[in-house]
Amino acid sequence: MKPEVIIVGAGPAGIFAALELLERGMKEVLILEKGPPLDKRCCFLRDTGRCRQCEPCNLLSGWGGAGAFSDGKLTLSPQVGGFLGDLVGGERLESLIQEVDQRFLEFGAPSRVYGLPGDAMEALAKRCVQAGLHMVPVPVRPMGTHRCSQVLAAIFHYLKDRVEVVFNCPVEAVKLVDGYKEVITSSGEAYRAPYLLLAPGREGNRWLKDQLIPLGVSFETNPVDVGVRVEVPAEVMEEVTSVAYEAKLLFNAPTFDDEVRTFCMCPHGEVVMEYRSGLYTVNGHSQGQGGTPYTNFALLVRTAFTQPFDSPVAYGEYLARLANLLVGTVIVQRLGDLKMGRRSTSERIKRGLIEPTLAEAVPGDLSFALPYRYLIDILEMLEAMDKVVPGVNSRHTLLYGVEVKFYSLRPQMNESLETPIPGLFVAGDGAGVSRGLIQAAASGLLAARAMGDGVRG
Ligand SMILES: Cc1cc2nc3c(=O)[nH]c(=O)nc-3n(C[C@H](O)[C@H](O)[C@H](O)COP(=O)(O)OP(=O)(O)OC[C@H]3O[C@@H](n4cnc5c(N)ncnc54)[C@H](O)[C@@H]3O)c2cc1C
Repeated sequence: MKPEVIIVGAGPAGIFAALELLERGMKEVLILEKGPPLDKRCCFLRDTGRCRQCEPCNLLSGWGGAGAFSDGKLTLSPQVGGFLGDLVGGERLESLIQEVDQRFLEFGAPSRVYGLPGDAMEALAKRCVQAGLHMVPVPVRPMGTHRCSQVLAAIFHYLKDRVEVVFNCPVEAVKLVDGYKEVITSSGEAYRAPYLLLAPGREGNRWLKDQLIPLGVSFETNPVDVGVRVEVPAEVMEEVTSVAYEAKLLFNAPTFDDEVRTFCMCPHGEVVMEYRSGLYTVNGHSQGQGGTPYTNFALLVRTAFTQPFDSPVAYGEYLARLANLLVGTVIVQRLGDLKMGRRSTSERIKRGLIEPTLAEAVPGDLSFALPYRYLIDILEMLEAMDKVVPGVNSRHTLLYGVEVKFYSLRPQMNESLETPIPGLFVAGDGAGVSRGLIQAAASGLLAARAMGDGVRG
């Protein structure tokens, strides 16, 4: 095969790029993916709570990328899930989101959408304003982890005879040779094409930087989000989650004038552990139906450091390492204990109303790991939220820490996601343009469209 386009990474960005290239009549498409096929992916961290540090990471690598075991919430608003709007404008992004959502539906995503405009949403937004919170209206199509994998499997079934996919094939190097883009795999094979799309996901951001900087592409520094995962009885959040599923609440915390926000609400979900670069952090997921008697969500504070500090990723990792250092993994603490200035113990947690869904978290004291500023921001946010959802600020509420969201460094690119090197495109979370399934997929679609136009033009 002499590929017209090589795609590195079979996450949502790479997969949706391939779908769009086919649509545009480009048949010689080669996808190189460092992980295994979907049915061969097995994550011990998810299944047993113990990470075996597989290389590559089975949670993040293989068909579907980080999307395969994600919570599968499709957020259908240009205001969340990435920064594509900065490049293409809100209107264009809105239409890309609709196209991507339509494709997810065609491959089996469920029809129900939460958070659509209506009386219930308006009433909720009003109560938020009264409590000093701003609710960003975000329609959400929740697939749940299981259905999300099924949808990605259906896309694979459709693509497998139409494009070439090579699994267990890490790309090590990217070169420019005679006007072609050449990639060299770990087994020493070289593939060339006029067009190359690099979509290596968030964990591939460093690799992307290592490849593009020697080719003369510069990168922008991004902020870091630090916070905790909050777990409460599902009834506490019911009024919000039954209407909005995932409420995006923003709060301007008075003491430090910081913006605190809710992120990734998981009704009847579980708190889960993530392992990355030698660090345990927290996240959440929900299966979409049934599930636990609890709801969890993150409270995050964004910090954009200014001169001379330019290592936000190192800073976030440092905080996660501190929590890991104290208990060997992630910390869980009752809000009441945090406020009383004492650590949580297993006995105190047992006396509470919530049985931690992340059994591997160790009771401890978050105030030894999180800077004062973030703790105060989070406590003030919980106080404000309690006016909308009474019970969230209860002493029984569990906080897990730390949750850190890193933003990938963003390479120079134009509105078609083409780098200054003609024919070399980037997409998805690894390129710092998306932070969720929908915008990652939309970015793949956008880049593929430009490649298709280039071939025809
Ligand atoms: C636990 C969890 C829950 C989530 N829940 C949600 C949610 O509910 N809703 C939502 O919108 N988003 C969610 N996300 C985020 C979402 O999964 C990502 O935004 C999305 O998958 C990003 O897509 P991507 O294609 O850019 O990258 P990825 O999905 O990360 O895929 C990148 C792929 O590239 C491959 N790769 C990397 N480097 C190389 C290389 N050198 N050679 C070959 N292959 C390579 C990787 O193996 C990987 O398969 C969640 C993420 C996680 C981890």
